[in-house]
Amino acid sequence: MEQKQTPRPSRRPGLTVGRVFGVPLHLNGSMLLLTLLVTVLYAEFARRQLDLSQFAGYLIGLGFVVSLLGSVLLHELGHALTARRHGIGVRGITLELLGGYTEMERDAPTPRVDLLVSLAGPAVSAVLGVAAVAATLALPDGTLANQLAFQLAVSNVIVAVFNILPGLPLDGGRALRAAVWALTRDRHTGTEVAGWVGRAVALGTAALAVVLTLNRLLAPLALPLTLLVALTLWRGAGQSVRLARISRRFPLIDLARLARPVYPVPTGTPLAEAQRRRAEGARPDAALAVTDASGRPVALVDPAAADAVPPARRPWIAVDAVSRSLAGLPALPAGLDGQGVMEAVRTHPGAQYVVTAGEDVVGVLHIADLAQLLEPKRKMNT
Ligand SMILES: [Zn+2]
Repeated sequence: MEQKQTPRPSRRPGLTVGRVFGVPLHLNGSMLLLTLLVTVLYAEFARRQLDLSQFAGYLIGLGFVVSLLGSVLLHELGHALTARRHGIGVRGITLELLGGYTEMERDAPTPRVDLLVSLAGPAVSAVLGVAAVAATLALPDGTLANQLAFQLAVSNVIVAVFNILPGLPLDGGRALRAAVWALTRDRHTGTEVAGWVGRAVALGTAALAVVLTLNRLLAPLALPLTLLVALTLWRGAGQSVRLARISRRFPLIDLARLARPVYPVPTGTPLAEAQRRRAEGARPDAALAVTDASGRPVALVDPAAADAVPPARRPWIAVDAVSRSLAGLPALPAGLDGQGVMEAVRTHPGAQYVVTAGEDVVGVLHIADLAQLLEPKRKMNT
């Protein structure tokens, strides 16, 4: 349903079950919970409708879950295959508790492509829904085939209608973003507007669920699930607003100013001594680098590992013990621009990056410094 492009490493994709049209398909662990809950809810409903035994009721409930998942998968394939046709690589499709998401390798290059990719999913759901409604009307009432067609109609109409709501992270929100982007020629304004509408959609969903439950139009058991949907939407919308603000600041990233200088200490130097010398230097916030016998930096002291050593032990521990080899750390070329830095950080998440000019190490980027630049009001989060 939603499509993800986050600045941080994505959530765990869950169990990989195979490939569809070459796209990796993952199942999230939360799916088991969904299967149980929806099976029980739907079984009750189906039993009352068809006058079935308890067992047959559960079978139909399970059938409903399977058709729901199949519908979500086809919806996501709509996004994934459209993206691929426009040259955007697809990392995978994940089916989880509240639907699914398609992960793409990069953002849509133009508002038009953004619009096409976001509407492809709901279009698939709408076509499936209309076909299933026709089948429901054509099949005789009270039969199992009629019941299955009805299930497909309900699930696809729900998926299509819900996703077309114009707030991020829903598909309709992406479409709204594309429209605002085209109008203002600024993608971030589009994201921010669609994010705020997304918050309104989340509040509206929660309010509607409560009203429907109070009027006995929604099973009380379904209320927590609906509120969870609303909460997920609220979070996703907030994330979008935040992402827009962060992305606006990408041009401010200047590696030459942001990187800390390197303070070299010879291999074998006690940690306390290395820290004392650095504190007396010109830049007490410099990164400690361990040099070999020829004076070449070979490793970098890991600040977290150094902090973890009690001060009383620091005179007795060599810097080497709390260092990481330079070869093992991700490197950023000194001339990289803001967008390039963010892409590198996204691909290789870490706490420290070596800034290099040719073979030389010219500085060290601390991810906390980058976070502070992008979100000055926020507490550093590394
Ligand atoms: Zn979608």
